[in-house]
Amino acid sequence: MQKTLQNLIDLQHVDVRLTDVRGRLAKFPKKLADSDARVAAAKAAVETSKAAQLANVKDRKKYELDVETWKDRVRKYRDQTSQVKTNEAYRALQHEVEGAEQEIAKAEDRLLEQMVASEEYDRRIKAAEAALKEVEQLERVQRFTVEADRAVAEKELAELEAERARATAGIPENLLDHYDRIVKKHHGVALAEVRNEKCGACGMIVRPHVIQEMRRADSDQMFHCETCTRILYFIEPSVSSASAASASVSTSREG
Ligand SMILES: [Zn+2]
Repeated sequence: MQKTLQNLIDLQHVDVRLTDVRGRLAKFPKKLADSDARVAAAKAAVETSKAAQLANVKDRKKYELDVETWKDRVRKYRDQTSQVKTNEAYRALQHEVEGAEQEIAKAEDRLLEQMVASEEYDRRIKAAEAALKEVEQLERVQRFTVEADRAVAEKELAELEAERARATAGIPENLLDHYDRIVKKHHGVALAEVRNEKCGACGMIVRPHVIQEMRRADSDQMFHCETCTRILYFIEPSVSSASAASASVSTSREG
């Protein structure tokens, strides 16, 4: 095989690995952000349950105050009862007392409900705090793993970039430009091996006379797939696989 073509193949090997490592590196910020988001969600759950408990405390204070207010009124009505002169006025005050006592009972019921609910809110706070602790611990490990993976990938990237510099040294600049353009167009893969008379990348037939020319070529001449425009290369098969290939070719031609 031509030396330049071999250099391009080597370059492509490096570039495929570079694409992979860059893809991995690009995922780390999201992984870390996701980890932060999980901790933030667990913290928010604690805050929400604490806020519910706080609202409950306020409600309880209000109902306690309600009970006291209505009790004061009952006392006041009872004091007035001793001073009334008519049955009518007496009955009216009795009616007020009954109404106020009903209000006391209602406020006490609400207070009791809130006291029961308060225990439930306490349980929720404890559960949310325990969950937060667990998430924080889990995410600490997760972050550690992500950072370690990132360090490995960054080292790999540096090594591959150095390897790429070495690989490009033996390739003429105009050919390298050409290669880079095809790489951009085809998401990182500029070369395709010819296999079974087909382009190994897009699968279109490579005409036999092109393959013959490729075998003969000893200059820096490049051959391209007519369909996907990738640079083609051809690896001479070993004797056994060559006879197998020609056998399959003759079979397909008979068919
Ligand atoms: Zn092709």
